[in-house]
Amino acid sequence: MSETDKAQTATPGGDTIFGKIIRGEIPTTFLHKDDVCVVFNDISAQAPVHFLVVPVKPIVRLAEAEDSDKEILGHLLLVAKKVAADQGLTEGYRVIINDGQHGGQSVYHLHVHVLGQRQLGWPPG
Ligand code: AMP
Repeated sequence: MSETDKAQTATPGGDTIFGKIIRGEIPTTFLHKDDVCVVFNDISAQAPVHFLVVPVKPIVRLAEAEDSDKEILGHLLLVAKKVAADQGLTEGYRVIINDGQHGGQSVYHLHVHVLGQRQLGWPPG
């Protein structure tokens, strides 16, 4: 199933694969871990470097983030920047949040994609 197909059929609500990863129920190598978020490589990398920054709090999607999540959301970007540097992305990178069906979201636990180490095209598909 393509990522687009997954996004068409994914439905919000309940536990997700990311919840299992955060709780340690699925063995995962973390590139970064703190009280607010975890970072691990995307299982279906779309670039030589492709990792996900995932808040411990199971915010379903960006559209459902609340004003009180401001610090978490800011933290995700600062961690994305730090891990991008750790991964050697000196020539730049792309930061993406897919929201909902049209945005192509397939896992309903908010996450930030970071892709790099190749020239990325624009506009996205
Ligand atoms: P999105 O389509 O924006 O919701 O992104 C979900 C991402 O999670 C996709 O890029 C998947 O490849 C990735 N993914 C799904 N399951 C896993 C997993 N077990 N470990 C790492 N990444 C995963």
